[in-house]
Amino acid sequence: MTADFIPYARPDLDEDDLAAVLAVLRTPMLTQGPAVPAFERGVADRVGARFAVAVSSATAALHLACLAAGLGPGDRLWTSANSFAASANCGLYCGAEVDFVDVARDTLCMDPGALAAKLEAAEREGRLPKVVIPVHFAGHACDMEAIGRLADRYGFAVVEDASHALGSLRDGRPVGACDRSAMCVFSFHAVKLVASAEGGMVTTNDPALAARLARLRTHGITRDPAEMEGPSPGDWYYEQVELGFNYRLTDVQAALGASQLRRLDAFVARRNHLVRRYDFLLAGLPLSWPRRDPRVLSAFHLHVVRLDPGRDRAAVFRAMRAAGIGVNVHYLPIHLHPHYRRLGFRPGLCPEAEAYYEAALTLPLHTRLTEGDQDRVVAALAEALR
Ligand SMILES: *Cc1c(COP(=O)(O)O)cnc(C)c1O
Repeated sequence: MTADFIPYARPDLDEDDLAAVLAVLRTPMLTQGPAVPAFERGVADRVGARFAVAVSSATAALHLACLAAGLGPGDRLWTSANSFAASANCGLYCGAEVDFVDVARDTLCMDPGALAAKLEAAEREGRLPKVVIPVHFAGHACDMEAIGRLADRYGFAVVEDASHALGSLRDGRPVGACDRSAMCVFSFHAVKLVASAEGGMVTTNDPALAARLARLRTHGITRDPAEMEGPSPGDWYYEQVELGFNYRLTDVQAALGASQLRRLDAFVARRNHLVRRYDFLLAGLPLSWPRRDPRVLSAFHLHVVRLDPGRDRAAVFRAMRAAGIGVNVHYLPIHLHPHYRRLGFRPGLCPEAEAYYEAALTLPLHTRLTEGDQDRVVAALAEALR
């Protein structure tokens, strides 16, 4: 890695962020102090949800959301093939069966048409899913209206994986408001839109789900007499009423997340500026990108392009890395990972996600990317595609 290597993503911390972290480190409450509920309130208010429950990662958030939705052995979870493995692993953690829905070619998000067809077949076979997890890929807000109508018709719970979409809007409504879902999950991993180093959150409008998530993140322990089996003998007393985990976020992480959240609008604006500039600079090269839907304001966690047919993606990738450009590929469809192949999945299950993967390239996009960096990325790509 040379000094002028341009990474595909990087965190953007300012002096206020550092001060917020240091302030927590000076207090006795490194965890389970006031910073976590403050961060939860900040995210809930920002996305317009009643409740937010902070956890140690989006992976933990997906796991708890599935448990809170009642997912268990004998149940089925469906998610988008074009995602990070965590979108599906949460189903396996619960002992459920996992299956995959293909994406739409123009959005790379779960295709409501493919979902409808798969549900029709599953209903005939008595194999309907209990939970469906659409993924707002790269920041593009999925068609939750269509998915929500199918949820009403077939009775599954919708959990949104919004790890890429904090700050995204669809028809003016923020992702995370849970207008058409039971719960919505965010990630604050260092490369995501807002960083807490590691961290995740579940938003919901359902008080019972929020209480259950909060209990499951801390061993299934409650201090609320109303949740106990019998009367509480005193204030020291707590009970473990179910099997939970230690999935807590620390106050150190929450303070960083809350401080970063204040700059979310600026982050999203900067990313949109750079994407518009990419669209202009890349026009004419033998590649395409997802449709820019006027109903969607994307937070643009990623900038993905698709090389035209006949182009050698591996060669372009190597040339870009050799030129010091941190390109990446998102994603190998989840069902093609060896762990999932061993469960019986084969190529051909999700043709659109598979075809996209073969031609996919993620270009650097982050808030500290300069226009000069961007010019270098485009020049290197034009050279690699000559
Ligand atoms: C990053 C990511 C996750 C996992 O997030 P962590 O906070 O790292 O656990 C899940 N789903 C998607 C789509 C992601 O991009």
